[in-house]
Amino acid sequence: QKKEWAKLVNEPTVTSDEQHIELAANIGTPEDVKGVLENGAEGIGLYRTEFLYMGRTELPSEEEQFKAYRTVLEKMEEKPVVIRTLDIGGDKELPYLDLPKELNPFLGFRAIRLCLDKTDIFKTQLRALLRASVYGNLKVMFPMIATLDEFRQAKQFLLEVKEELKSEGNEVSDEIEVGMMVEIPSTAVMADQFAKEVDFFSIGTNDLIQYTMAADRMNEKVSYLYQPYNPAILRLVKMVIDAAHKENKWAGMCGEMAGDATAIPILLGLGLDEFSMSATSVLPARSQLSKLSKEDAASRAKEILELSTNTEVVEYVNKHFNA
Ligand code: PEP
Ligand code: MG
Repeated sequence: QKKEWAKLVNEPTVTSDEQHIELAANIGTPEDVKGVLENGAEGIGLYRTEFLYMGRTELPSEEEQFKAYRTVLEKMEEKPVVIRTLDIGGDKELPYLDLPKELNPFLGFRAIRLCLDKTDIFKTQLRALLRASVYGNLKVMFPMIATLDEFRQAKQFLLEVKEELKSEGNEVSDEIEVGMMVEIPSTAVMADQFAKEVDFFSIGTNDLIQYTMAADRMNEKVSYLYQPYNPAILRLVKMVIDAAHKENKWAGMCGEMAGDATAIPILLGLGLDEFSMSATSVLPARSQLSKLSKEDAASRAKEILELSTNTEVVEYVNKHFNA
């Protein structure tokens, strides 16, 4: 199997009915790019920038961030690189910010909520990102968006910072796509409205599942409720993909589910454009997709959406796809 996968390193990802799918990888640090290229990913679908901020005693400077973003963009040459702005809070803490302890950190002051409040932190990151934009194919993504207002505010900051940089004589790319994570159910439900204003969606199933099922993703006691194939999740995913396509935008997924062999045929059938996963999953996923027909998967997905439970979906996939 390993040998078969190795042959696919420099190949595009194409289904048995000749449909191209984009396979990207998730990274946490610039050092991870090596693995991304070795595994033949077609881009980076999620760069979790919070690791730049963690395990230290003060905020990273604009210059330090610029160097990290530039390195990643340069190493990826012209391949797409989705960089997510700071997603701190929940399971990721920053001791030096001295944030008050919260009863429900996963429902609290985190990610874009924090950035829209501590705007100096946000603007520093946006400056670093925009300055790096001329070194590759940058796409900026905002995490934990719950409302359209938040997306508009975040994008407004980006535009302001861009003007500021230009007036200082800096070069900034004019081709940066600006998108958002769909990981809060409200945004999946309202995806038709968001789709008019974003350039792309990336579905964060790690959080989308926990918020939809009201089951903490870290709590073993409720892990039986953490159900990626529950039709409730699949229907939300479908809403997001359909809404994106209606506005000629693309929809990706960067949660763990995107690299999962049981989920892949379903997601293909739902029309997902980009799958972003850990680098080591890219070649197995490419091999799996090459044996699947998108047209067949689409008609299967219609049936799957009518099933009632997580277990029924898993059984259906095992029966019809893994024969
Ligand atoms: C997600 O929520 O699915 C996601 C990709 O983000 P993170 O795992 O960093 O919360
Ligand atoms: Mg998340």
